Amino acid sequence: MENGKKGIVMSGIRSTGFLHLGNYFGAIRNYVRMQEEYSCYFMVADLHSLTTHPDTKELKPNVHRVLAENIACGLDPEKVALYCQSHVYETAELYLLLNMLAYKGELEKTTTFKDKVRQHPENVNAGLLTYPVLQAADILLHRASLVPVGKDQEQHLEMSRNFANRFNHRYGEVFPEPFAFNFGEALIKVPSLDGTGKMSKSENQYATIFLSDTDDLIRKKIMKAKTDAGPSAPNMPMPDYIENIFLLMKLVSAPDTIQKFEEDYNKAAIRYGDMKKQLAEDMIQFVAPIREKAESIRQDQAYLKRIMEMGAEKARISAAATMEKVREAIGLKYY
Ligand code: ATP
Ligand code: MG
Repeated sequence: MENGKKGIVMSGIRSTGFLHLGNYFGAIRNYVRMQEEYSCYFMVADLHSLTTHPDTKELKPNVHRVLAENIACGLDPEKVALYCQSHVYETAELYLLLNMLAYKGELEKTTTFKDKVRQHPENVNAGLLTYPVLQAADILLHRASLVPVGKDQEQHLEMSRNFANRFNHRYGEVFPEPFAFNFGEALIKVPSLDGTGKMSKSENQYATIFLSDTDDLIRKKIMKAKTDAGPSAPNMPMPDYIENIFLLMKLVSAPDTIQKFEEDYNKAAIRYGDMKKQLAEDMIQFVAPIREKAESIRQDQAYLKRIMEMGAEKARISAAATMEKVREAIGLKYY
């Protein structure tokens, strides 16, 4: 760890499409908050993309997009190691070694695995089954202990801790335990606009607000969010789809705006049309500057190449040091 830094941080985002509000509020916002005081490794999880997106035609633009959108959100590639997973070969070596410590039964029980099996029964590959092992390799490769992620990653982090503990127990203490991190607050889940799950790059696309959406598209998506005729009496409990709209408002609107609509709701005098119009305008205020900045970064291919090279160089130094310890601990040293 660099001198004076508070701890080692690692997290990643798959190159499977356009980044959205969930990626921002669940992950990137905390990357930016941590970049000054912590020693940070952030990567584009391009290898993880292959578990569900075997067609690689869009891979390059997607990788560029993830980098550009992270930087547009305020991530500074000079302050952190911002790199591509596939550029750091030690990832694959540690993944292989950790696979010996991961059991088929626990991998099959993972919620995300079961979801993907349901969605894509034609492509249940071993990479999908061992997705949490590759994720553990990414984190442990830098001996990170803090992992800023959204709520959907909680179970994977628990698995990373199990693999780290098993390794330490079997071969000697090498890895700190990694924990999902949100500055002591509960992990975030940004719900999809149709209330059927979370916003996502590769599912729920029409109910997800992307950081690249135009103003008009944001208006359309928000106006289509499910509402009803409103509460029939004061202080009624809120249906989950209405709660979701309030939750989105809390991410981007001013406190007095939220308070006004909460009061209207409790008085049974809320007008959902007005609320959604207000939410759409506040959302546009939030998204538009990121969209414009990302677009200009995306055009600058030479800059993106430089960023990737610089990031990989930083990540490889840390990865090489960890792998020395790992090989030594396991006994993969014969002279
Ligand atoms: P995909 O559908 O391809 O898996 P994704 O939107 O789930 O894409 P990931 O690349 O899997 O994105 O995750 C990147 C980061 O964003 C993780 O830290 C994850 O927890 C976070 N994240 C993703 N969706 C949400 C969401 N709706 N709310 C909060 N955090 C989220
Ligand atoms: Mg995901």
